[in-house]
Amino acid sequence: MPEQTIQTLRRQIDEINLQILELLNKRAAIASEIGRLQTELGVQLYDPQREAEMLNALQLANQGPFSNDVVKHLFKEIFKASLALEEREARAKIIVQRKAPNDTTVITLPDGTQIGNGSFEVIAGACAVESFEQMDAVGALLAEEGVKIMRGMAFKPRTSPYDFQGLGENGLKIARQVANKYGLVVVSEIMDASQIPMMSDYVDIFWVGARNMQNSFLLKALGKVRQPVILKRHFSATLKELIYSAEYIAAGGNTQIILMERGIRTFNEETRNTLDIGAVPLLKMETHLPVIVDISHSAGRRDLAIPFGRIAKASGADGLMVEVHPNPAVAMSDAKQQLYFDQFKKLMVEVRATARPERAF
Ligand code: PEP
Ligand code: MN
Repeated sequence: MPEQTIQTLRRQIDEINLQILELLNKRAAIASEIGRLQTELGVQLYDPQREAEMLNALQLANQGPFSNDVVKHLFKEIFKASLALEEREARAKIIVQRKAPNDTTVITLPDGTQIGNGSFEVIAGACAVESFEQMDAVGALLAEEGVKIMRGMAFKPRTSPYDFQGLGENGLKIARQVANKYGLVVVSEIMDASQIPMMSDYVDIFWVGARNMQNSFLLKALGKVRQPVILKRHFSATLKELIYSAEYIAAGGNTQIILMERGIRTFNEETRNTLDIGAVPLLKMETHLPVIVDISHSAGRRDLAIPFGRIAKASGADGLMVEVHPNPAVAMSDAKQQLYFDQFKKLMVEVRATARPERAF
């Protein structure tokens, strides 16, 4: 007899389990719709006040046999699962977010050079374009070393307004001329969206400097250009902020984005910034975009170029960026960190000799 009763009761439990399951999924679907609307409004998904109110209402309604503590514990688990679902859905909507382990953006430059395809590209050149002769020497060096991408910086975001601000459009003309002479690709920093039409005549890749990383109007405008964009991390930006800045460009329609780690501000006084090398695997894990390491502005000193170069390649980054000048001692900006030509050649030897892991994470 009792066996039969147990059987009957168990069938009731099975039935209730199915009802709970249905209700749980119904609840999850509604929570996910709320999450979608919150994301649209830019509102945080987790609302502790709302959670406290729901738990309070459940405890008031609870008639046992479960204690209030048990009810609270069970529902907290349900809330947690719903929030995780909402967060997963919100992330899936982010264009630059990695969706699958082999999801990769490969950028093809006008000369056919690819970034993000497993190779390790070097971007090099003077901190700023100063003259044709200076850039001509740099261009010849890069061509000799097989480097394809040349810095052609004509607008310099200097700390002091009285320091050299760059040659402007004349600097771009020089960079283009030299690049054409040696078959190089030009990358140059843009300061303001109004410069896009003019700069488009000279540059193959736009570059957003650290100080403009969160200039959302500039980022939106670069979402409309056909050239790839290098986006540098601000020295006080979290990786999440960098990823959202990249998302501004992607949301505008341009997914040809390269992220650049350039060191962050810490209490460390020995280097100009602190190279956050952990950002490489993290950014590669979180996004499908190529990641490059700036070994010049992170260190701020040329004697660290070779070790930083090795570290950059060993981290699984897609390339490095380094400043090189025919006569760094008299450079108009960043004199302490630009490499002499012989140092650059040594760096290239060391970097070639360093293995790059197939995956950064
Ligand atoms: C640069 O790389 O030219 C530069 C100005 O660096 P950052 O924007 O990282 O300071
Ligand atoms: Mn510089």
